[in-house]
Amino acid sequence: KDFRNSVKPNWCPGCGDFSVQAAIQRAAANLNLSPENLAVISGIGCSGRISGYIRSYGLHGIHGRALPIAQGVKMGNRDLTVVAAGGDGDGFAIGIGHTIHAMRRNMDITYIVMDNQIYGLTKGQTSPRSEDGFITSSTPEGSIEKALSPMEMAITSGASFVAQCFSADIKELTATVEAGIQHKGFSIINVYSPCVTYNKVNTYDWFKENLTKLNDIEGYDSSNRELAMNTLMKHDSLVTGIVYQEERPSYQELVKGYAEQPLAHMKPELQSELFQEFVKEFI
Ligand code: SF4
Repeated sequence: KDFRNSVKPNWCPGCGDFSVQAAIQRAAANLNLSPENLAVISGIGCSGRISGYIRSYGLHGIHGRALPIAQGVKMGNRDLTVVAAGGDGDGFAIGIGHTIHAMRRNMDITYIVMDNQIYGLTKGQTSPRSEDGFITSSTPEGSIEKALSPMEMAITSGASFVAQCFSADIKELTATVEAGIQHKGFSIINVYSPCVTYNKVNTYDWFKENLTKLNDIEGYDSSNRELAMNTLMKHDSLVTGIVYQEERPSYQELVKGYAEQPLAHMKPELQSELFQEFVKEFI
């Protein structure tokens, strides 16, 4: 199946987000999905444009709100493969409350964060992922705040699939997106996706020098939570691969009274009947 459409991305040449777009398209094709069974929901930022560049259902939402929308889509139609996407500013600043609750809720969706450690769309301000000392237009003397650690946060918040990738490694990225989609529960994939225009520190060369593949660490076991946390701390989170994965029931499997048939496929009369039944106990 072809997940390409005719829209030409207006990202800067060399932006890491191109690879993320290609990886989602390849993963969907490799998993034999159909465009009509895929929904890509994004937030605001350069990366938020991604929902318009993939042939699927899509919604370019509001800032920091990709996850509430994506979870609503999944609840309405569990038959859809739902991918939420956005940047580190979107998901780890204004949207961080939604991110944490979605992780502990364990709804069966995949969240891809294009982490460029800066706000690109608004021309280069410090983001929650910028390192301390990082000089930008909003911190001309260097950031005095510590960078947030998405992988540690995801594990401690209850995400059941936690992974990190580098956009230049399209092979590992595609395989990880496939694994995330196949995982039954909430999967978060943080992708180091360089902003070539505004971030002159965390460049492709910088990542190539500093990243370690978890597959290259002897004895690494992604089902071992303690090992995952220790490895992240040891490598300052500069690792790629599946960091942590556990099997536990997804939100959909646990919610009481969740109808067998997806809400989106029901006749309006039946939807209304179900709704009346649901609200009865609250009135
Ligand atoms: Fe990509 Fe940065 Fe250009 Fe935005 S400003 S499109 S993040 S390179």
